[in-house]
Amino acid sequence: MRSVFAAWLESPIIQDPAPIVQRDCPNCSKSTVPVSGVLFSDYRCPNCRSMIGVSRFAAATVNVLILIVTIVTTAMVFLQLGFYAAIVWLPFPMGSLSYLKARFCRLESGGPDHDGPQ
Ligand SMILES: [Zn+2]
Repeated sequence: MRSVFAAWLESPIIQDPAPIVQRDCPNCSKSTVPVSGVLFSDYRCPNCRSMIGVSRFAAATVNVLILIVTIVTTAMVFLQLGFYAAIVWLPFPMGSLSYLKARFCRLESGGPDHDGPQ
């Protein structure tokens, strides 16, 4: 039993965690911006200290799409399965479409010292 556990500890699943998906900073062109950082807000690049966010046009377009898809699919789930299923369904279109926005839409920087120290 102990050898099975030791083999599990040395397995490549433990040794090689999945890499965090990072995008290129539009200001300094280094891949320092994690997708989770620009998912719902702006992110400060650790290399050049500028605020990085999804471009305003893309964010506005995707937010309208998120609103429409959320209302339509939640109404469909509500009519098919009822109120509690609609409550459970609600975050899925928001989360998945926000991820696509953060992963694939064009990023833009808000300047080297947008706010905060430095
Ligand atoms: Zn940068």
